Amino acid sequence: MNIGLPKEIKDQEFRVGLSPAAVQALQERGHQVFVESGAGLGSGFRDADYQAVGAKIVATAAQAWDEEMVIKVKEPLASEYQFLTLPKILFTYLHLAANRDLTETLLKTDLTAIAYETVERERGGQISFPLLTPMSMIAGRLAVQFGARFLERSQGGRGILLSGLPGVQPGQVVILGGGVVGTEAARIAVGCGANVTIFDVNVERLCYLETLFGARVNYLYSTSNALAQVIPTADLLIGAVLIPGQRPPCLVSRGLVQQMIPGSVIVDVAVDQGGCIETLRPTSHSQPTYVEAGVVHYGVPNMPGAVPRTATQALTNSTLPFVLKLADLGIEACDQDRGLGLGINVQNHRLIHPALHKEFPDLL
Ligand code: NAD
Repeated sequence: MNIGLPKEIKDQEFRVGLSPAAVQALQERGHQVFVESGAGLGSGFRDADYQAVGAKIVATAAQAWDEEMVIKVKEPLASEYQFLTLPKILFTYLHLAANRDLTETLLKTDLTAIAYETVERERGGQISFPLLTPMSMIAGRLAVQFGARFLERSQGGRGILLSGLPGVQPGQVVILGGGVVGTEAARIAVGCGANVTIFDVNVERLCYLETLFGARVNYLYSTSNALAQVIPTADLLIGAVLIPGQRPPCLVSRGLVQQMIPGSVIVDVAVDQGGCIETLRPTSHSQPTYVEAGVVHYGVPNMPGAVPRTATQALTNSTLPFVLKLADLGIEACDQDRGLGLGINVQNHRLIHPALHKEFPDLL
């Protein structure tokens, strides 16, 4: 199959849909990848890196889009709508529920639009979203890295080294939610020697976390009573709760934030779904923090954008098995792999994914 790889044009988006290693895997299976010139630069991949593994470099976005399947990272923007009539398959993050305009546009095309975020995997009765997980893992790990930086005095923090050192107390890291983000945050915080507490409402999950971190973490059931006791002691508070399909609950009131020590830091990773801390509002990579009630607040909704090279490699490691199936079998791959099939959002001018039926009942 011929596959197009356009450059991402969304502001501050530096990832690219396929790394050179992924392109090589496709080329080895007899597929041809057409890369828009400069597509990989934001992630540190030059045109020459793609050429070295057999890709053809094309000069314009229109040429990259004019192939049977197009692989991207972000949803098409209005200036890209003109290209949506060209490929047969589009595989990318789409987030259509939040974008009526794009949904209506896709319905007018012959495209099969497959969204990374709705591809599912079922293992042992457990459902997971394999193309969301790598970004949550990155955000969780970054939460501690950023938190450590903003605890520095010059960054507005109270001047704490999270690890402490012999003779000096380590920092206190409190994590709300022990899912993918919370687990990865704990991994880094434990690794650097901080005192770590994880709150969750899922006792089975807390038990699982204990098998990972043993006695190096405190595992607490999340009640307002327990939160009120522990949060005022936190040097770094990380928000990582998710209730699928819903806005997260506000777990930390303004009054509780006011009880935190001035110069402590809040990183709310769940900000992309509305956040779980009353005083936190979305920020950006260019202006990531503000101070409220004496506490440094960080709320960037697209944290993996800070590390595009790592994020591109992590994303393509996860998408590649699906991309290879689609390249080998075309859209029939979605019949053979039910989890991939659940990624289909729009096909034959119809909305396919059940969540979109709920969101846009008038567009069926
Ligand atoms: P997840 O489903 O793996 O984990 C969420 C956890 O929250 C679960 O273990 C759940 O039991 C727990 N939880 C639910 N209610 C709770 C409560 N009241 N108290 C404590 N814990 C509670 O989700 P995830 O992949 O870890 O994602 C967490 C959040 O991070 C999501 O909102 C996700 O969208 C967001 N996220 C943000 C970025 C970013 O760049 N800002 C990147 C990736 C993910």
